[in-house]
Amino acid sequence: MKEAAAALHRRAVVVDAHCDTVLDLAAGRRRLGVRSAQGHVDLPRLREGGVDVQFFAHFVEPRCRREQALKRFLELYDAFMAEAEANARDLAVVSTWTQLEEALAQGRIAAVIAIEGGDLLCGSLEVLRCLRRLGVGVLGLTWNERNDLADGVGEAARAGGLTRFGRQVVAEMNRLGMVIDVSHLAEPGFWDVLDLTSQPVIASHSNARAVCDHVRNLTDDQIRALAANGGVMGLNFCPPFVDPHRADVDRLVDHALHVLELVGPDHLGLGSDFDGILETPAGLEDAGRFPRLTEALLKRGVDENTVAKILGGNFLRVLRQVWGSAPEPSMT
Ligand SMILES: [Zn+2]
Repeated sequence: MKEAAAALHRRAVVVDAHCDTVLDLAAGRRRLGVRSAQGHVDLPRLREGGVDVQFFAHFVEPRCRREQALKRFLELYDAFMAEAEANARDLAVVSTWTQLEEALAQGRIAAVIAIEGGDLLCGSLEVLRCLRRLGVGVLGLTWNERNDLADGVGEAARAGGLTRFGRQVVAEMNRLGMVIDVSHLAEPGFWDVLDLTSQPVIASHSNARAVCDHVRNLTDDQIRALAANGGVMGLNFCPPFVDPHRADVDRLVDHALHVLELVGPDHLGLGSDFDGILETPAGLEDAGRFPRLTEALLKRGVDENTVAKILGGNFLRVLRQVWGSAPEPSMT
């Protein structure tokens, strides 16, 4: 079993749709290319974990609003791009399907630049288009707070849906071929996005609420709707979202089995939230441990094809469809 799991893991394209490593890099606490005893993600550990595509969230602290947030993003982006350039042999920043295919063919890890929270758009579609030109491939509309696109899950019962600007952003992201991320979005906004979007969307790092009742997890109705849209949700390793009483690999697999049972094999992926979480589930201590999840899925009877889809096939399908629909960068 262990060997079969290792072989499958090596063969599969592994995609992790969420990590917060950029914050550590920008603070100068660690280098991307150097194995660290701190945190969860660096190139040596991504290699060890067999990760082929890593989304790097650029998370702007909520105390920075609008123009301040945009400035902060640019600082994070600058720090990340410098790290990427210093490690260009092992890592390629990609924002089109062609670039992603090329990186994989070269055996480089493909880095996807994602933004968590649309406050930094400052209410401007021009800013959105500039971010796309800079190579941003994914945007989460909100973090936990309200912004001028929509309300985040932190707004709880008072939450509303998409604003007029939020609706314009969805349409423009569809046109630009940018992936819409609905993790952190409050439910009314989630339903608005699914009503409006002409492209599949992702919930990059959210689990199943039926298994663990947390506001950051998706209800069965949301998971069904995401599946009907052709979208994908990424399993989040954050212990409170897995099970506050027992967060380990097997409990995470319970979330996977629930989603598979509910909507079949085509709508589940990985969104570890590494470096955004303080604690990790037992058995998944850092990015080097992804093969343990493959092992656990097989052990619980998930077939190899389905495991490969969860490891990365499903997120790749969405990237190919959404990025592939984009006009050439020079034409946007
Ligand atoms: Zn997050």
